[in-house]
Amino acid sequence: MPFTEGETKTINYLKAQFAAVGAEPGNGDSYFQDVPMVNISTKAAPTMQVQGPKGSFQLKGYDDYVIWTNKADPAITLDKAELVFAGYGVVAPEYNWNDYAGLDVKGKVVLVLVNDPGYSSGDSTLFKGKTMTYYGRWTYKFEEAARQGAKGCLIVHNTEAASYPFSVVQNNWNGSRLQLDNRGKNVPNCDVIGWVSEPTANKLLSAAGLSMALLDKAKQRGFKSVPLNVYLSTSMQVKATYDKSHNVIAKIPGSTRPDEYVIYSAHWDHLGVGKPDETGDSIYNGAIDNASATAGLIELARAFNNMQPKPERTIVFLAVTAEEQGLWGSAYYALNPVYPLAKTVANINMDGLNAFDKTKDIIVVGSGQSELEDILNEEARKNGRYITVETHPEAGYYYRSDHFNFAKVGVPALYTETGVDVEGKGKEYGEKLADEYREKHYHRPSDEYDPKTWTLAGAIEDLKLMFQVGKRLAAGDQLPQWKQGSEFKAIRDKSLATKQQQ
Ligand SMILES: [Zn+2]
Repeated sequence: MPFTEGETKTINYLKAQFAAVGAEPGNGDSYFQDVPMVNISTKAAPTMQVQGPKGSFQLKGYDDYVIWTNKADPAITLDKAELVFAGYGVVAPEYNWNDYAGLDVKGKVVLVLVNDPGYSSGDSTLFKGKTMTYYGRWTYKFEEAARQGAKGCLIVHNTEAASYPFSVVQNNWNGSRLQLDNRGKNVPNCDVIGWVSEPTANKLLSAAGLSMALLDKAKQRGFKSVPLNVYLSTSMQVKATYDKSHNVIAKIPGSTRPDEYVIYSAHWDHLGVGKPDETGDSIYNGAIDNASATAGLIELARAFNNMQPKPERTIVFLAVTAEEQGLWGSAYYALNPVYPLAKTVANINMDGLNAFDKTKDIIVVGSGQSELEDILNEEARKNGRYITVETHPEAGYYYRSDHFNFAKVGVPALYTETGVDVEGKGKEYGEKLADEYREKHYHRPSDEYDPKTWTLAGAIEDLKLMFQVGKRLAAGDQLPQWKQGSEFKAIRDKSLATKQQQ
């Protein structure tokens, strides 16, 4: 967890390991990049008072809802704040969709649905159908509600649509969270952001004399929000602590094109100490997520340093902070890049390696985005392996790890996931393993190193492939492009055009 003794130990360990494998400091003389952040810790009142025409009652914090704030104000209050159901909370001009059309939410709390109308309707012509767009992500919902001037934004949780159970929300939104230090910058924020469980949404609608059928209507084009006439009251004490966290950056300088860069990234952080699980374990180790890929970065640095001749382009190893709190370390890097973005050939991001047996396949997340997947495909075939597309495009994984911040600034970014076609055991076995991880260990204290089951054979195989892709990118003058239709292509084209003018 950033800001803790765990951070100090982790970043110093990484620095020592990068130095030991022969990688140089990646930020001038330093292996570190300061990331100014604020730790916002909240103490929410234990309950929320709900008043509606068909009933008044109290909701219980943690069990029924979780709330938080992005604001550093010492006290936050909802005092009979009006609740408005705003569909998916989406304003998407390219899909001709606006849930806020004709709606004045200033000073009100919006209740919105997770994911996007394409997912929920199953209509492949609506948004990207089952494939989640950025409009489906909770980060977007809170950003948009703030832009609309809402006082609060509560997302209705749904396990399928969110792709994780309510317990993940409870663990993530309890107590304290980090974000970039935005003092002096004009970044709009709601007072209260959070999630309610589905049974809670049902209660809120009942208080309005409505039913869950209303939620269903929101996926239809032309849906108009109806006033709920429900009012919420609760409060929160806030403590803001400003401090710096750190990205760790190392490099292997290129032999002939040292001012062109291939950046490997992996987040070093996890969740720290949190609510104990059923065994009483309260330490969120994050062994797979993401100690595994952080270790992978070190091994890649070792491999590139051992290459003879050395790679032509510079290889950068970026271990970013605060991914779990909102992709902040990579966001900060993308806004304050050490190496020019127009000279950054590609980002290869790793988040969770395969701790178990080798797989024949490797999964491309966000397939169809860039030419990097074609290079991956060719290299995989050389090893007798193959690439597949993600099995849960509705989960929006392309927007859920650090490469997304590179994509947002136009740098082509590759993100893969552990395959499921386990050698000698097949797909069914692999899918079972993946489901088991998602359901039982993801973001829980049990994401732990287990010497009995971890073979790391799969991780080694996948890292070899990541190495081969990086090696291809480091040799020669090829600049991989975003594909037609990618929402990031225009940004890259502009960035490269600007570079040429200089
Ligand atoms: Zn992760």
